[in-house]
Amino acid sequence: MTAESAAPSADVPALRVAHLEKRYGTLKAVDRVSFEVRRGEIVGLLGPNGAGKTTTINMILGLLEPSAGEVQIGGIPLRSRRGAALARTNFAAVYSALPGNLTVRQNLRIFALLYDVADGTHRIDALIEEFDLARLADTKCGLLSSGEQTRVALAKALLNRPELLLLDEPTASLDPSAAQIVREKIKGLAASRRCGILWTSHNMLEVEAVCDRVLLLSHGRILLEGEPRSLPQRHGAASLEELFIRVAREPLSAAAGGAA
Ligand code: ATP
Repeated sequence: MTAESAAPSADVPALRVAHLEKRYGTLKAVDRVSFEVRRGEIVGLLGPNGAGKTTTINMILGLLEPSAGEVQIGGIPLRSRRGAALARTNFAAVYSALPGNLTVRQNLRIFALLYDVADGTHRIDALIEEFDLARLADTKCGLLSSGEQTRVALAKALLNRPELLLLDEPTASLDPSAAQIVREKIKGLAASRRCGILWTSHNMLEVEAVCDRVLLLSHGRILLEGEPRSLPQRHGAASLEELFIRVAREPLSAAAGGAA
């Protein structure tokens, strides 16, 4: 049985991170971070440059070994059952381009094999249609515009019907119209496929529009957490952007604002 055919239990979160830590010498890049992403939920992982977002994501993807703590994907511990946990995960990131000398379809075929997708050909055809890639299916990925590459990366990220989808600035290279289409697709995905999504972005308006919950990281720790439209008011800020700027400049006073 492939991991994708194993029925997920509805009450187990898509992602559970407990006391996760990454140390580089004396620097704690990620400092005892704990959170969950439930199925059907889109959680924004926010924070200023150097806050620890990429380090956290790389530990969830199994690319970096944590110094301490645990990651579970769909209830499966990453440390002891790495293959099964990662088979339920996928990601799309601007910095992770697909091989440019292969066509869109060739790339999708290779990743379908890697992810052991049972109905690979049908799945690829469906995703090519869903992401409007038919015209580009036989074009080498290296020749695509950055927006087109993003659509291919998202199609690749959905090949194995992940329970947990990690998206690192998925709309960063898209024009406003294409970005809106992608946002709607991802919202629909969370709602209908019961997939949990962890989304990083520096665009606070987008985060307000898309995320059900946000985690604001600062110096490796979760400083603030809540619903993106009510969180700013709770901390005396007019908008998420204003709250973000305050966290970036004065992390301790931003957290204290919530206690008032
Ligand atoms: P950005 O928004 O700029 O991408 P980020 O929130 O993703 O930032 P990380 O890349 O996770 O931040 O980095 C967190 C901290 O860990 C930074 O201070 C960074 O310099 C440090 N860091 C990351 N990787 C290493 C490494 N291999 N060795 C030493 N320090 C590292």
